[in-house]
Amino acid sequence: MTDYYIKTKRAFTIIRTYGWLLTVLIAIGGLWQPKLGLLVILIMAGLTVTAFFTGRYWCGNFCPHGSLFDVILMPLSKNRKISKLLKSKVMIGGFFLFFMFNFSKKVFNVAKLWGSMAFLDRLGFVFVTTYLMVLVVGGVLALFVNARTWCQFCPMGSIQKMSYSLGKLLGVTKRTDRKVTIASQAQCHTCGKCARVCPFQLTPYLEFTDKNQFDNVNCIKCSTCVENCPAGILSIATERDALALKESTSLEGYENRQAIQAQITEIIDLNKDTKEYTFTFISPQKVAYRAGQFILLKIEDEPKSYRAYSISTYNDDGSKVSVIVKKVDQGYGTDIIFTRFTVGDMVELEGPMGEELVPDREVEKILFIGNGIGITPFVGLAKDVLLNQPVASQVKLLSGQRFEEDFLYDDYFRQLDDQYEQFEYISVASRVKSDKYHKGHVTDVLKEMDVEGYKVYMCGTKNMIIDSYNILIGKGVRKEDIFYEGEERIKEIA
Ligand SMILES: Cc1cc2nc3c(=O)[nH]c(=O)nc-3n(C[C@H](O)[C@H](O)[C@H](O)COP(=O)(O)OP(=O)(O)OC[C@H]3O[C@@H](n4cnc5c(N)ncnc54)[C@H](O)[C@@H]3O)c2cc1C
Ligand code: SF4
Ligand code: SF4
Repeated sequence: MTDYYIKTKRAFTIIRTYGWLLTVLIAIGGLWQPKLGLLVILIMAGLTVTAFFTGRYWCGNFCPHGSLFDVILMPLSKNRKISKLLKSKVMIGGFFLFFMFNFSKKVFNVAKLWGSMAFLDRLGFVFVTTYLMVLVVGGVLALFVNARTWCQFCPMGSIQKMSYSLGKLLGVTKRTDRKVTIASQAQCHTCGKCARVCPFQLTPYLEFTDKNQFDNVNCIKCSTCVENCPAGILSIATERDALALKESTSLEGYENRQAIQAQITEIIDLNKDTKEYTFTFISPQKVAYRAGQFILLKIEDEPKSYRAYSISTYNDDGSKVSVIVKKVDQGYGTDIIFTRFTVGDMVELEGPMGEELVPDREVEKILFIGNGIGITPFVGLAKDVLLNQPVASQVKLLSGQRFEEDFLYDDYFRQLDDQYEQFEYISVASRVKSDKYHKGHVTDVLKEMDVEGYKVYMCGTKNMIIDSYNILIGKGVRKEDIFYEGEERIKEIA
């Protein structure tokens, strides 16, 4: 079984990348220079004050131990599920009392030295040993369970929760608190990636409020979910900004999203790791979708998870839909789809969704660009515009793959090229020596192409989309005439 939780980069700032050096300095350096421990007083003050305004933001953005766990130990961690016991109120409360009792006892003993030369060194040493204890215990838990296991019951986390509650009670947080925010719940793919990458193993996608915010006191506002959401619809925002975003987000392409019961009626092997699945709609029996949209396929109930797939058919009578799925190495969802889904199975779909790749019916010159598995929407789109868009006088498809066997629907596109005068199919292969294909990447061909007056629709790898976008802008194509969708969110040009 493939792992549910994914290790991804969590250090997005310099403080988060190098903060761990402070932990080492205090916990190890403090053994020789105990006064270094006094820095912890500033850290405690910092986390208490920030928490008053915006909860556990410190843990996700400034905590030196958090940086150590995320940057140094996460790559070595077993990355297991954190047990409910370690997250329980009994554990958190019990450990807080135990910790505070011991810590206060030590500080009380040192307080007797007030006024003496040894006072600052002894006080600093109390903090140094505490810091060292967190490094050792938290470090072992990070390696054998999950990088942020310690943080589940960290007493500093409890102090922050108390300070946060006070801020809430006094009405301060309403304006200052920044929470994970979703632009629109209708655009969520329910893929659970935000939960799979979350250091705290929280499930934001299942808990957004009607204000489109994730209201969980344990969220450390670390932005890992924001950076990884494939739909690019998450941000960290105040309540006011969340409401403004909700108002301004266009739902075009998502109006017909609905739950659909369907049956798998055909599975075709397209190559060694790619299959085409056809779903016949059962309830409702007809679904209005357009080529260029995508659909969600439920992979499991607990936790509720779907995967997004581009529709590879054009909608001739609205009774079925096909998607092409490529098996991903270590892929959680594709492992389930490839091993469990067979012809005759009933499945749950949700959709249709998306409008980025759906051309307006009045567009005359269309350039489709796809590489890798990003070619799938163009299987349906090419046919749809040729059959249903009479004004489309010039339609080009630029398709890039590495090897010959990677070209999906190659004969079909060549047939359309022969059959329709207005259609041109240009296939480019980077690792094939054959006259059948242009040599290189789609960007090599794009540089030489006449793209004047074209509207461009791209789907594929992040690098291909960014490079093609820059070439198109360089050739004078207007920003608003370029549309793209990728498996990964593309912030660089968004
Ligand atoms: C709008 C849209 C349309 C799409 N259309 C298509 C389509 O037509 N066809 C298609 O095949 N796909 C398509 N996708 C992608 C699809 O939704 C899935 O993301 C894809 O099938 C992989 O799902 P998965 O659960 O198997 O992979 P995941 O498990 O989510 O893995 C994703 C990546 O993370 C890595 N990973 C997984 N687990 C770990 C781990 N424990 N540690 C480190 N790394 C890990 C994997 O190697 C992989 O690179 C589309 C995506 C979007 C957003
Ligand atoms: S929900 Fe998002 S911001 Fe909050 S802890 Fe998890 S990954 Fe970080
Ligand atoms: S990661 Fe997936 S489930 Fe989470 S908000 Fe983004 S689209 Fe929705």
